[in-house]
Amino acid sequence: MSNPVILANEFYNHLNKDKKENGALTINIIEEAIISFGGQITYEQLDIGCDGKIEAIVDISIPKEPKIDSFSIIINNFYKDDEANRKRLLAHELSHLLLHLDIPSEAKSTENNKITLKFEDSIMSRGTNLEKEVEADLFAEHFILPNNILKLLLSERKYIKDGGFIDFDNMSKEEKIHKNSLRARAIKLGYVK
Ligand SMILES: [Zn+2]
Repeated sequence: MSNPVILANEFYNHLNKDKKENGALTINIIEEAIISFGGQITYEQLDIGCDGKIEAIVDISIPKEPKIDSFSIIINNFYKDDEANRKRLLAHELSHLLLHLDIPSEAKSTENNKITLKFEDSIMSRGTNLEKEVEADLFAEHFILPNNILKLLLSERKYIKDGGFIDFDNMSKEEKIHKNSLRARAIKLGYVK
């Protein structure tokens, strides 16, 4: 199992290779990346309590080397105008694709060697897959904003208020990341006493 934080950092660096951004990934970069990996993104009205889901068609002609043919990320319409949550959910679903779409052993006998794997994020699945959900959240957080970039932002003057306090409201607005998440990570990194 890959370490979600290391994997997330690798993805951030890969996507920022030329752009030299010193902030959180934008929704455009994340959407473009998903499409370039062969994914589709749609917004649909999903059941209450279901944030999103992912479906992947996987080619298992070579059982030891399953290959993702295509995949689709479906996000609840509810979040369509909420950029912070859209970023978080897209990264979260991407993490399930990278880390959690396990090929069942009985899948080898299908006719065209292709199987569809699904992963749904609902209140119910959070309860039964808690470990996977924690991993996916961890990936999402560090994919959108790795710690080394977060540290840069935390020490940037535009985010420091009079008295040396960090302006989480402004940072949250600019970087389109939830304030609570920024604050929690800043505390963990030792920037807030
Ligand atoms: Zn999930």
